[in-house]
Order: sequence, then structure tokens, then C-alpha cells
Amino acid sequence: MTSPSKTLFERIADGEIPADFLHKDDLCIAFRDINPQAPVHFLVVPRKPIPTLDDLTVEDQNLVGHLFLVAQKVAAAEGLTRGYRAVFNCREDAFQTVPHLHLHILGGRKMGWPPG
Ligand code: 5GP
Repeated sequence: MTSPSKTLFERIADGEIPADFLHKDDLCIAFRDINPQAPVHFLVVPRKPIPTLDDLTVEDQNLVGHLFLVAQKVAAAEGLTRGYRAVFNCREDAFQTVPHLHLHILGGRKMGWPPG
């Protein structure tokens, strides 16, 4: 039975909702975004259900570093040799829609700046 307190991304991590996984380890998962905004768009998500960037604590420092190193490795495996955009949307002004910390990696096209 599904716990109502689980986040969407915990349910994906636990295999309750299917996803196109690119990486899994003890600390995080990476999978393709269901609504890609670029030719390559994947999310790197800690297994720990931290709601937003504002909820990080000192004890999460190594975990956040790990997310970036996984992003780097998966981006290389996805062939993003010309670079990519890395984004954390934090709360309502940034249109964060899933309250479980996630790093977006977008690539495979030129990105605009400033972002919308
Ligand atoms: P946010 O808006 O919170 O920064 O990003 C949430 C992201 O999660 C969005 O880009 C959205 O497309 C993606 N997303 C939402 N639900 C699902 C899902 O069930 N599966 C996958 N793979 N991505 C999802």
C-alpha cells in the first residue's frame, strides 16, 4: 500500500511509479523528465525527501555535492559535450511544482539567458 506521506519522487525511487532511470545509487536517483524542455532533460533527486533548497542543512553538504557529481557523470553519458544548464527551482516564485529537492539538467540545445 502507498503511504500518503510519500512524495512523488519517493514513489518513483521506490518503483511505485515508472520512470526512465539513468542512474541509481544509495543516495540519489536520476531519470528523464516526463515533460522535457530540451532534447536532454533529466532530474537528479536525493532519496532523502528534502522539500526545497531552503530546507538544506549542514548535514546535507556532502549529499548536494554528490548530486552535482552524478549530474556531471550522467550528462557525459548523455553526450552533452557542449555543456548544459543545471537548475534548482526553489518554491513558488521559481515554479517549483514537486516539493522534493531535484536538480534539473537540460542540454542538447542552446539555452536562453536570462531564464524566464
Ligand atoms: P519543478 O517544477 O518542481 O522544478 O520540476 C518538477 C519536474 O518534475 C517537472 O519538470 C516535471 O515535468 C517533472 N515531473 C513531474 N511528474 C513527473 C513524473 O511522474 N515523472 C517524471 N519523470 N517527471 C515528472
